[in-house]
Amino acid sequence: MTEPWSLESAAHERAEALWSSPLPHPWRPYIEDILVEFGREVQARTEERVRAETLADETTWRQLMWVRHGCPIADLYGDDGEMQCSCCHIDFKRDSVQAILDVFAVQGRAALREIAPKEQP
Ligand SMILES: [Zn+2]
Repeated sequence: MTEPWSLESAAHERAEALWSSPLPHPWRPYIEDILVEFGREVQARTEERVRAETLADETTWRQLMWVRHGCPIADLYGDDGEMQCSCCHIDFKRDSVQAILDVFAVQGRAALREIAPKEQP
């Protein structure tokens, strides 16, 4: 089955014809330079977009954790983009994920001690 004509397929066929030519095409070095530069530009833009998306995702998750981590809403401070909790003293904007998890682990163990059955004397 023949693919429908498109600008991309026409360009691909033209490039194939150029590269498979037995004699080096006089423009080949320039075309290769342009393609290499284009590839670098695409890669840089892709990496920049991925970085921006990753940062946006992390910020969203930090905001969700800050608002829903279980401390009273009155203890949350959020002026000027801050995400702090005066109850558990986590800075959700700056603390590392591991530091936040460590505080949650300490809180979890304390909560378990509260609900664990007391030993009988
Ligand atoms: Zn808290």
